Amino acid sequence: MKNNLKFSPLELELKEYAKENKVPIIFDEGLSFVEAIIGAKRPKNILEIGTAIGYSAIRMASVCNSNIYTIERDNSMYNLATKNIKKAGLENNIHVIFKDALEAFSDVSNIKFDLIFIDAAKAQYHKFFDIYTPLLNDNGIVICDNMLFHGLVNDINNIDSYSRSVRGLIRKLNLFHDELLNNDKFQTAIYDIGDGMSVSIKK
Ligand code: SAH
Ligand code: MG
Repeated sequence: MKNNLKFSPLELELKEYAKENKVPIIFDEGLSFVEAIIGAKRPKNILEIGTAIGYSAIRMASVCNSNIYTIERDNSMYNLATKNIKKAGLENNIHVIFKDALEAFSDVSNIKFDLIFIDAAKAQYHKFFDIYTPLLNDNGIVICDNMLFHGLVNDINNIDSYSRSVRGLIRKLNLFHDELLNNDKFQTAIYDIGDGMSVSIKK
């Protein structure tokens, strides 16, 4: 894939930090895809599940000044994210909620979202989808990252050599694919972009 993404010094620092510390931030390929959707859709409010160090939130907020509500359950990630968002000067745009996303519905339930970006524990994607999509506006979009799990989800018959927990995750993601594709309230496609990305548009 070719793109002309530009990165600020802070964003380059975050990418380097993520690489050194194995924080699974979004790949450039996925990022350029998400940024294209945001640029076209111009969402007023975005909900992100899985902040990590704030990298994707900072990038998404910068496309067209959307408000981002982003949920993170890990204390050290939460602290890094708030620090980085402040450094980026985006603390008025990006609201980090320090909670497990399974328990944060009431923190955002008075807000309507144009875009939901799910990028947290893969085994819980279907729960996140069910909890938060009632807050989606008509024609709102749900994007899920890491949907192909390094290609393994497309290769479900050849996963015997993986650990029990990885096999369990792959099966759960595979079920979630089916649920998404069978949900007729959404038009869904799963793309082989980055680590696999689904786009579901609320009808
Ligand atoms: N969106 C980030 C990367 C997120 S990595 C980026 O691209 O820059 C996934 C993050 O989700 C991790 O920091 C992990 O702690 C968090 N997470 C996983 N399950 C969660 C849950 N149930 N609730 C809140 N955060 C969760
Ligand atoms: Mg991801």
